[in-house]
Amino acid sequence: MNVQEQINLLRSLEELDLILKDMVSPTYKKIGFKPTKPTLDFMKIAEKERNAIAKKIEPQLLREYEIIMKRYGGRVVVQVVNGFCGGCYSRLPSEYATRSANNIMNCPYCGRFLYWLSKR
Ligand SMILES: [Zn+2]
Repeated sequence: MNVQEQINLLRSLEELDLILKDMVSPTYKKIGFKPTKPTLDFMKIAEKERNAIAKKIEPQLLREYEIIMKRYGGRVVVQVVNGFCGGCYSRLPSEYATRSANNIMNCPYCGRFLYWLSKR
């Protein structure tokens, strides 16, 4: 599996994790959100999907993902914006963009997974 596919899976995993987390969050309960049957059905589907995606991700990457998610509670896979990490806003070494073509890159400062929308 190539780098882009792994990153896509990680992003998808993160999105599902955040959806599942939202649904049981105290903030949602406070604004009166009560899980209905369709919601609970959806959660089951989302959980299943989440596990299916997790299985496709390389075990080492998945372990890193879980550690970063635990540490930050979200924004595990972040976009590089004009050479800056979208998670901690630090300037990344300039060779990172080039190396990202063949490697999954982590921010050297916060450890988050990085992705580039356009290669430069
Ligand atoms: Zn960072």
